[in-house]
Amino acid sequence: MVMNHFEYFAPRTPAETLELLGRFGSKAKILAGGTDLMILMKNRAIQPECVIDINQVQDFRTIMCEPGQGAVIGTNVKLAEIQFSEALQAKYPALSYAAGEVGSAQVRHMASLGGNTCNASPAAETPTPLAALGTKVVLSSQSGDRELPLEQFITGVRQLGLNEGEMLTRFILPEPAPRSACRYAYMGRRDAMEIDSVNMAVNLELQPDGETIRNIKLVMGSVYPRPLVSQEVPALLNGQRLIDELIETAAAAAQGEAKPIDDIRATAEYRREIVKVLARRLIQETYAAAKGV
Ligand SMILES: Cc1cc2nc3c(=O)[nH]c(=O)nc-3n(C[C@H](O)[C@H](O)[C@H](O)COP(=O)(O)OP(=O)(O)OC[C@H]3O[C@@H](n4cnc5c(N)ncnc54)[C@H](O)[C@@H]3O)c2cc1C
Repeated sequence: MVMNHFEYFAPRTPAETLELLGRFGSKAKILAGGTDLMILMKNRAIQPECVIDINQVQDFRTIMCEPGQGAVIGTNVKLAEIQFSEALQAKYPALSYAAGEVGSAQVRHMASLGGNTCNASPAAETPTPLAALGTKVVLSSQSGDRELPLEQFITGVRQLGLNEGEMLTRFILPEPAPRSACRYAYMGRRDAMEIDSVNMAVNLELQPDGETIRNIKLVMGSVYPRPLVSQEVPALLNGQRLIDELIETAAAAAQGEAKPIDDIRATAEYRREIVKVLARRLIQETYAAAKGV
């Protein structure tokens, strides 16, 4: 459990951070909360030559969440801040709830939203609701910024669409549409510091009649190497009024799209069953919430 020797930097501004990333490139690792990074380094799964601690960079710690304008969340906003932010709770309850289900209170006060995405674990809590909400990530380097939908940023297990010298700096969440609701749910082995066997988020928007689905986005976690956005559920439900038969058909379609594996947390068979249960429950819940029932 002894880490390799590395150079340590604690920049104070985004510009200093990007200069260091430009200089060290893939030899550097960003340290946010360190709740994943330290474990990987102690196990010598990774051995960076340079660690860039971003905890002194205030710009990465801000939440902007104004009425009518969506939200911009800095990469190093801690999960506990997302859990307890009244503005985020009101606008994005699925995200606040998911953040509050990560690990323990100690972990949530250190762990960042950016770290949860950049660790690129298929079982991570927050990428699933972030993708359902239509979040874009801002990737920054000395050459400037670019934006990507979150589900395109995570490309596989521990794999990101990051270029040399780039880092994630913030998340951009769109303003929720009128008559819409987003909900998150997960299943783990026990109600403790377990890692999810399956998680899921559904974002559902109704047409002005308050009955017909305009747009539904269902995202699954822990059943694919990266957050899996269902293609079949919107094809079945957009333009429809929800009836029990359709809920069953859509839940079975999500189940068919999931490609889980057996591992220490659950069997693939169990995960497929849970996908169906969570899909059924979340479609019902988001439909009722969007109707204001
Ligand atoms: C006891 C325990 C329980 C846990 N339970 C859960 C759980 O229930 N659910 C869950 O999802 N996770 C869980 N985790 C995992 C971990 O806490 C989360 O993934 C956390 O959000 C990681 O954030 P961090 O700030 O600590 O990331 P760090 O460890 O600092 O970084 C993680 C990785 O992302 C990279 N990185 C960080 N920020 C950036 C950036 N801005 N740009 C580019 N790369 C970046 C780092 O270089 C590193 O490779 C648990 C961990 C522990 C120790």
